[in-house]
Amino acid sequence: MPELPEVEVTRRGLIAPLQGARIASVRMGKPLRWPLGIEAAALAGRSITEVQRRGKYIVLVLDQGVVLIHLGMSGSLQVSQLDAPAGPHDHFDLFTDQHLLRLHDPRRFGAVVWSPDAYSGMAAKLFANLGVEPLESGFSFEHLWAGLQKTRTPIKQLLLGGQVVVGVGNIYASEVLFLAGIAPTKPANQTTRPQARRLHAAIVEVLTRSIALGGSTLRDFVQVDGYAGAFQAQASVYGRAGEPCQQCGQPVQVMKQGQRSTYYCKRCQK
Ligand SMILES: [Zn+2]
Repeated sequence: MPELPEVEVTRRGLIAPLQGARIASVRMGKPLRWPLGIEAAALAGRSITEVQRRGKYIVLVLDQGVVLIHLGMSGSLQVSQLDAPAGPHDHFDLFTDQHLLRLHDPRRFGAVVWSPDAYSGMAAKLFANLGVEPLESGFSFEHLWAGLQKTRTPIKQLLLGGQVVVGVGNIYASEVLFLAGIAPTKPANQTTRPQARRLHAAIVEVLTRSIALGGSTLRDFVQVDGYAGAFQAQASVYGRAGEPCQQCGQPVQVMKQGQRSTYYCKRCQK
């Protein structure tokens, strides 16, 4: 599943081809997770003024309205030549006068949704429960600390939920908790202040590193699977059950939490 760093890498790749471009036409394939919310033809003639991101949504800011794109479980975006033929899993094509932005999504859990702006309509609904952005100034230590104090939820589940801070998906949750030395099952409100300090630093470090890695391995074509592989190759614990812990040499453990795999070191994480 594409996580925040992949989406951010995708966003950065879209700025040059799309920012300032005028939409010529839009083609919709099979239904995605939600309806577009406007006639596709009504987007023709509008200009893309900015390419932003909120959580895992790419936000195309138009001169009138915004278009939110979510990659769902299996989606990826490509910038292609205008005459590239659509395949059976290409369900959204946005043509400008120079480029084609194409959403390829075999499982169709992705979404392309129009909203009058980022603060009302579908955008307001979809963004309502999103926590702060991890790489913006709103993600202070005190914000994280306050979020941890509010609940006994296991800390990994709290991070995955995204209500305190967005972007710590399944791979990154295992990694940041390992770096911070915190057991993934620990009730969030039992985290100590020093642990929370380490966790705050680890979240920023891991996501920053991950985006940098994606930025160096991907160019115009964003292939989520290839990207995840590149990050996993550098992961400390994720996907490494049975391998020696990099800190203590004990075998890395794996368990299920809420049907997702959690990788951790029993000895190093308290
Ligand atoms: Zn260890």
